[in-house]
Amino acid sequence: MTPPASINSNIAELSRRIRLAEQENGREANSVTLMAVSKTRPAAAIRASVAAGISHIGENYLQEALHKQDLLQDLNITWHCIGPVQSNKSRTVAEQFDWLHTLDREKIARRLNEQRPAHRPPLNVCLQVNIDEEPQKAGIVAADIPALAATVASLPGLRLRGLMAIPAARSNPAEQRQVFARLRHCFESLQAQHPEVDTLSMGMSRDFEAAIAEGATLVRIGTEIFGPRDPAPGV
Ligand SMILES: *Cc1c(COP(=O)(O)O)cnc(C)c1O
Repeated sequence: MTPPASINSNIAELSRRIRLAEQENGREANSVTLMAVSKTRPAAAIRASVAAGISHIGENYLQEALHKQDLLQDLNITWHCIGPVQSNKSRTVAEQFDWLHTLDREKIARRLNEQRPAHRPPLNVCLQVNIDEEPQKAGIVAADIPALAATVASLPGLRLRGLMAIPAARSNPAEQRQVFARLRHCFESLQAQHPEVDTLSMGMSRDFEAAIAEGATLVRIGTEIFGPRDPAPGV
């Protein structure tokens, strides 16, 4: 495990790079939220990141997330589910998370709406877009955004916040920007129909600066905070 001292300096360095990218691209200062992606990391690493100023945590695997949430109840964390959600797991997301970034099916939207506890505010939802139209990848194609957005917007237990994508890896920053620009265009079309949407969830360790240049409001970063992941997942 990466010792907390380096988590602290990694977050300071990342925040500096995010602020610089905002500045260089004419973005408002602090308009980009940094989410720490903590899949496969122990609860202690999350605790160190929160001590360093993080308040948004993204988890991919539900059982692993529940275990860590249990250990971190004393902290004020906004929990984001950023992994795939099967129908039989939708209740866990509805009951235990503040955000879902990977909605791509109407059926799941309806289940989440029914399962969201009445005492909690609506679940914040981003639609996952398969922006490179990769056959093996989750997400809807751009043409299907309006219909799913209309469904989510009609459900009182959900709050439509915006779009999320995980583009195919590209090492060239100009190519990274091109794909993020396509998602930004989708987002602008969505905003025309749903002026309340405010979240463009795009950019990871390898490409967050290109994402910020194209309008990301939230970047999801794991490796640059916690170090390289072990190949075998485990808490
Ligand atoms: C793992 C993951 C990230 C973070 O990836 P890094 O390259 O470690 O920054 C972001 N988003 C999603 C959906 C992920 O699964």
